[in-house]
Amino acid sequence: MQFRDLRAQYQRYKNEIDAAIQRVLSSAYFIGGNEVAELEEQLADYVGVKHCITCANGTEAMTLVLMAWGIKEGDAVFVPDFTFFSTGEVVSFRGATPVFVDVERDTFNIDPPKLEKSIQKTFAEGRITPKAVIPVDLFGLPANYPEIEKIARRYNLLVLEDGAQGMGGSINGKRACSFGNAATTSFFPAKPLGCYGDGGAVFTDDDSLAQLIKSLKVHGKGENKYDNVRIGVNSRLDAMQAAILKVKLRALIEHELEDVNRVYRLYNEKLEGVVETPVIPEGYYSSFAQYTIKLKNKEQRNKLQAELKEQGIPNMIYYIKPMHKQGAFSHLSYDNKDFEVTNELCDIVLSLSMHPYLSEEDVEKVANTIRSIII
Ligand SMILES: *Cc1c(COP(=O)(O)O)cnc(C)c1O
Repeated sequence: MQFRDLRAQYQRYKNEIDAAIQRVLSSAYFIGGNEVAELEEQLADYVGVKHCITCANGTEAMTLVLMAWGIKEGDAVFVPDFTFFSTGEVVSFRGATPVFVDVERDTFNIDPPKLEKSIQKTFAEGRITPKAVIPVDLFGLPANYPEIEKIARRYNLLVLEDGAQGMGGSINGKRACSFGNAATTSFFPAKPLGCYGDGGAVFTDDDSLAQLIKSLKVHGKGENKYDNVRIGVNSRLDAMQAAILKVKLRALIEHELEDVNRVYRLYNEKLEGVVETPVIPEGYYSSFAQYTIKLKNKEQRNKLQAELKEQGIPNMIYYIKPMHKQGAFSHLSYDNKDFEVTNELCDIVLSLSMHPYLSEEDVEKVANTIRSIII
């Protein structure tokens, strides 16, 4: 059993993926070209936004947006305390200050009332200026954008959806990576839509933002690559990855999303009353980048993890440390009492094997093993 079975996916799509790679080799267009343009068009169409701009990875996608918005020293950007390091890192990388916000216990996502309080407090202190929010679609579940967007409008903040884990999720039919003023995703192999290396993308309906990011990702190009009108970066998705992603996007749409949701329902059914299972709010749809259970306390979680490991059942702890406790942010002063939920989650979460190719027998095996350890 694999935590995420990329080999099973490759076996199922081997003919198409091999043909896609061969097509790129034969064309000898390794950078840019039709493959990338077609993928961008298909992704924009699927997500339901005007522009998709691919780039080197999900971290760089966020950096490009923050660069385009002119986020700089003295600016405050609100980020959930329970996420992958990258979400806070990109803020500090621009010289701005990440202001971490506690999350909801049920959804693992940024807590809107706590976000509003944090914005008010930051304005009142007057030391740094609130500019943007980066909600994360953690484990594949979109954050509460209806509430977040209301709050952002009230305080005139920009919203950047970190959809690195979110591709395929939705709220009342509106797809992940279409929320906020801009959104980003990652094509890291283990994400819901992954390539065979690194990749990322920015999504937006904003024409001028899209133009600016297209310039920034190619050395600040003007008329062309050799006319440079601003300082940018070199950040691109290569043709081979784009060709592979076109096959994988079709797989995601055709059956993978349904299959991970089938696995989710099966797990929930088998684990009911044994552990706390994931909660998907009414109207929300998750792409299940992770299936994450909650245990009673740290001792129970650690014991379960050790015993599962011994029995060869894959599992991971996402995430073991809150952002506000990361050494890289130790120069910023956070009040540990503001992060009650994240502090608890880091002690009690455990992510189980989750992917579209997981069999009913495997789900049963995982659930039965957990049951035998806990009960
Ligand atoms: C994976 C991930 C990223 C970064 O993506 P990379 O492509 O690895 O740079 C950012 N945010 C979240 C929440 C992630 O899970």
